[in-house]
Amino acid sequence: MGENEKKYLTDAFNSNWIAPLGPHVNGFENEMASYLDGGYAAALSSGTASLHLALKILGITERHKVLCPSLTFAASANAILYEKAIPIFVDANKENWTLDIPSLEKAIKIYNPKALIAVDLYGQSCDYDAIINLCNQHNVIVIEDAAEALGSTYKDKKCGSFGQIGILSFNGNKIITTSGGGMLVSTNEDFVKKSRFLATQARELELHYEHKELGYNYRMSNLLAAVGRGQLEVIDDRVKARREIFNRYEKNLSHIDGFTFMEEADYGKSNRWLTTLTVDEKECGISKTQIIDALEKENIESRPVWKPMHLQPLYKGCDFVMSENEDVSKRLFDDGLCLPSGSSLVEQDQNRIIDIILSLIN
Ligand SMILES: *Cc1c(COP(=O)(O)O)cnc(C)c1O
Repeated sequence: MGENEKKYLTDAFNSNWIAPLGPHVNGFENEMASYLDGGYAAALSSGTASLHLALKILGITERHKVLCPSLTFAASANAILYEKAIPIFVDANKENWTLDIPSLEKAIKIYNPKALIAVDLYGQSCDYDAIINLCNQHNVIVIEDAAEALGSTYKDKKCGSFGQIGILSFNGNKIITTSGGGMLVSTNEDFVKKSRFLATQARELELHYEHKELGYNYRMSNLLAAVGRGQLEVIDDRVKARREIFNRYEKNLSHIDGFTFMEEADYGKSNRWLTTLTVDEKECGISKTQIIDALEKENIESRPVWKPMHLQPLYKGCDFVMSENEDVSKRLFDDGLCLPSGSSLVEQDQNRIIDIILSLIN
């Protein structure tokens, strides 16, 4: 937490405004919209809820085909199943791990999909010029899943602001947090208004409780929005801290044969939400699992990268499109490692992590 979260939270308490909706919700939405340089925002209960509403508002329904990168967190794809649409998974590119454009083009041509959920993986923006160009040509709706990428940019434009609708997450593990929460953002005000309506049980503007559509209880609470406002004030510091953590790992470990850090695409700036790399056992003699185990022995948690959706039992039977002979998503999962990257990680603790890894290599 930064300086002001507790103050704003106390303010919400003192005003006795303990409800979904309230002045902090409006304030958080306005401040986020202006942080993203325009558009509108709806504060919701999670990133997952935001994605679900994005699909609903954009008319995705039963049997529509929706493209999604395979290498992502399950929440990106689960929203497709909530609406009984058909997920089709697309491979990652080996340079920066985001959507592989040739695979995307191939998938669009084969499946004629209704929509694409583009994911800014581990804070790295997708190549939106290429994506939007392709999707416009083929009438494919673009939704940006920027849950991991608040504070990142693509060609000086902020992540979250691409596609018809973007979504953000403030879950506890994300770069800023309200403990749990999310946002739906768009330059289309009607979409955002619709999301607020659907998120409050689709209650019509009547004195009594009138319902014509199926709604949800997806709004963010005024208390959590108070925390979010404080967090948004420190987003630049958080990005700076995470980038420094990445740079320190890279400086101290990238000389090791077989260690390849996730490359930052030259079209943008990543918030470096998590420091990720691949560990090629054939070259360095140890596997990513050995590193995870060695850190675990010292009570330090690290993780493999996301397990691709086309390898998940839940999504067995779904199609997967890759452009080359190699399944890049699978290889990134097999060799990929996320190192401890919390913004509060101090240099001394990071040096411990680095030393443990160096001692394994030697
Ligand atoms: C965290 C995350 C989500 C879901 O956000 P929640 O707020 O946890 O529901 C969606 N997509 C990606 C890529 C994420 O990392």
